[in-house]
Amino acid sequence: MYDEEGRRYLDFFAGAGALNYGHNHPDLRQPLMDYLESGAVVHALDMQTPAKRSFLEKFDELILKPRGLDYRVQFPGPAGANAVEAALKLARKVTGREHIISFTNAFHGMTLGALAVTGNSMKRGGAGVPLSYSTPAPYDDYFDGETPDFLWLERVLSDSGSGVEHPAAVIVETVQGEGGLNAGRASWLRELSDLCDRHEMLLIVDDVQAGCGRTGTFFSFEDAGIVPDIVCLSKSLSGYGLPMAITLLKPELDIWEPGEHNGTFRGYNPAFVTATAALERFWSDDVLAKEVVVKAQQIGDGLTDIVEGRPDAQVRGRGLLVGIAFDDAGASEKVATAAFERGLLVETSGPEGEVVKLMPALTTDPDDLRQGLEILDDAVTTVVGSVAGERA
Ligand code: PLP
Repeated sequence: MYDEEGRRYLDFFAGAGALNYGHNHPDLRQPLMDYLESGAVVHALDMQTPAKRSFLEKFDELILKPRGLDYRVQFPGPAGANAVEAALKLARKVTGREHIISFTNAFHGMTLGALAVTGNSMKRGGAGVPLSYSTPAPYDDYFDGETPDFLWLERVLSDSGSGVEHPAAVIVETVQGEGGLNAGRASWLRELSDLCDRHEMLLIVDDVQAGCGRTGTFFSFEDAGIVPDIVCLSKSLSGYGLPMAITLLKPELDIWEPGEHNGTFRGYNPAFVTATAALERFWSDDVLAKEVVVKAQQIGDGLTDIVEGRPDAQVRGRGLLVGIAFDDAGASEKVATAAFERGLLVETSGPEGEVVKLMPALTTDPDDLRQGLEILDDAVTTVVGSVAGERA
């Protein structure tokens, strides 16, 4: 990116995950320009259009079928929070229950339903009303390995005296993008899925940030081998930063009445056009997916080098959704500022903003990744000092 003075920045922020394929990718821009030039319909509410049909066909052909997944596709409003609200409402409607289990440090969006399953107290405070019908459970490794996984959840769900009502669903992020880059292990996710089956709760995976290839597979839960009942996608779905979201639901859950969950901007056809182009360009083969694995290794190694010898800093995350957590929460903001001054855009994450978060486009050149890591290393050294004994 370049600012008005022509200064060059490497963008390791990528629109908070909305730009997995980078800014203005030419293979997506051209179909968009062609579509607009053609005068085809831009706004179509929830009506059928050729652009929407093409997206649905490609999504089925390139994403769902090859993974053996059978989902209905719902178009809620275009933001991630819209996909989450649709998921929560549907889970409640299907089960006839009100309660949702969420996780510590979760982030699901800023609308009231999504905030009720979000952990961050500052964001929750903005609601202005009590946030209810949800209970947070400890996320993977919340107790630093001291407590067996799901000890609390399993117990309260099995105990009619626990005071926790039988939930409609559990909502989970496989990597907590906003909540500090905590990554749920595949075995933990499998256990969660099994627990949902045993206690007859729907499993909702919020893949708004970790999906669309960010962790190396299209859906972030593929490695775990689980099949959620409901999946939320948005951010990089359109591939071009255009607003678009979908909620995927198992066919038997589709009990919506027509118009029961509507919204004006569910049919933004330019987003369907770029989304289809993105699927064709990046998901017709496994080239991108393989590249992400290699780049994730490169960036993981780079971060490991940066924290080496720094007991007050740890590497967090998975795939290309990674960063460094500092024991001194204030350090991360300073590192982000120092990185910005050196031409690197990064975000902070976590309840105290204690994590410097890297989320480069999946298409980032390995040389740009290297440069970004060098800038980050320099920024960390400037802010928290060089490591005693100096690294080579
Ligand atoms: N869910 C997750 C996991 C997110 O990371 C976000 C946004 O960062 C949302 C939902 C909300 O998306 P939006 O800001 O588009 O409403």
